[in-house]
Amino acid sequence: MEVIAGSAGVAVRRGSDATLSIVVPVYNEADNVGELLRRITQVVRGLSAPPAGYEVILVDDGSHDATFAMLQALAHDDPHLRIVSLSRNFGHQIAATAGLDTARGDAVVLMDGDLQDPPELIDEFLVKFRQGYDVVFATRRRRAGESRFKLLTAAVFYRVIRRLTNVSIPVDTGDFRLMSRRVVVALRNSRERHRFIRGLVSWVGFRQTGIEYDRAERFSGSSKYPVSKMFKFALDGITAFSEIPLRLATWFGFAVSIIGFLVALYEVGLHIFTGYNLPGYTSTIFAILFLGGVQLITIGILGEYVGRIYDEIKGRPLYLVAENVGSGLDAAADSVPSTAPVAR
Ligand code: UDP
Ligand code: MG
Repeated sequence: MEVIAGSAGVAVRRGSDATLSIVVPVYNEADNVGELLRRITQVVRGLSAPPAGYEVILVDDGSHDATFAMLQALAHDDPHLRIVSLSRNFGHQIAATAGLDTARGDAVVLMDGDLQDPPELIDEFLVKFRQGYDVVFATRRRRAGESRFKLLTAAVFYRVIRRLTNVSIPVDTGDFRLMSRRVVVALRNSRERHRFIRGLVSWVGFRQTGIEYDRAERFSGSSKYPVSKMFKFALDGITAFSEIPLRLATWFGFAVSIIGFLVALYEVGLHIFTGYNLPGYTSTIFAILFLGGVQLITIGILGEYVGRIYDEIKGRPLYLVAENVGSGLDAAADSVPSTAPVAR
């Protein structure tokens, strides 16, 4: 892994000498990888302005099915393919990171392996990249074949995270995007473990723009993001980019003190003016339960952050690679067999 302090001075070629990497993390996608590679290859060969060279980096995130065997067979026939096989399932964001660490291209496209992100968008991505943009993200206009639950939780998630975080993260936008080499190098230098890639990319800055698309249905199989993973992902996103939840304790504290003070005033007034003395059971039990709840919530929030500090401080590597297959853009002879006229 190259480590460069900051990404200043990272040269990004944007002309006809620019190279392209396509990074795809896959987990149990044996039925999808063949079609995925076919579609990507078709798109790259038909690009209006083909890159000087390209590579497809498929990261096998510890699949239990035949994914790795399929990938090996595909790599055997296609020198553009590069396989990074992780030692176990590390999760989508880490697998994507492993791919980005491996990518050599001037432009790097990150996409899902289930064809929900249409490779055909790469042409549009590259147009914006050549215009000088460093990040071109794809915003979902419509999402086909998703459950109501997924649509609702996703819509809430994007809006909550937008309100809570201190970097501006575009709504309804996943990790499907093009990044220039200097953005990828900046990510390479951000080694935080609880990774929320789209937040990191927003944080990096440079010139960013978005294009809209309709998200397709999965080609085959079912989602590899169960509710538990979605929940962990949302927590990672919020805690990585916001300290607001930590401040909730202070706000709760103020709110509860003010309410307590008003209640006390009321009780005293009642006693002075009417001589009435409340038996007090309801107000006491309310105070105990409410305060107890608030305290547990805030301790829980503290725990989320402290746990993450502990995790970071251990300094373990983000992932372990079991096997590398193919060399992608590192191969000496690398050109795109193009059917389209080469624009110079
Ligand atoms: N994925 C992965 N590791 C995981 C879970 C998912 O590499 O632990 C990959 C998966 O193979 C796919 C992408 O991440 O290429 C997005 O996952 P999925 O399509 O299941 O998510 P959804 O589209 O349902 O949000
Ligand atoms: Mg999917």
